[in-house]
Amino acid sequence: MLITALTFWTLNIRISEMARRADNRIIINMGCVDCRERTYHSSKNRRNDPQRIELKKFCPRCRVHTLHREVR
Ligand SMILES: [Zn+2]
Repeated sequence: MLITALTFWTLNIRISEMARRADNRIIINMGCVDCRERTYHSSKNRRNDPQRIELKKFCPRCRVHTLHREVR
């Protein structure tokens, strides 16, 4: 009886830890700066990247590598 209560307690802690971690990891959309086409999904850490992130990616509409910026 004591063991099951303890297992349940540790499981509860683990779940709350996961929820906290998921809160800092958010899904973002990446859009082409040139044509405004939203071509990519990505995820970022809110704590590590509080500002909008920019990445060089291939845009299928422009057919070249362009700068993609995070759009919300
Ligand atoms: Zn483009």
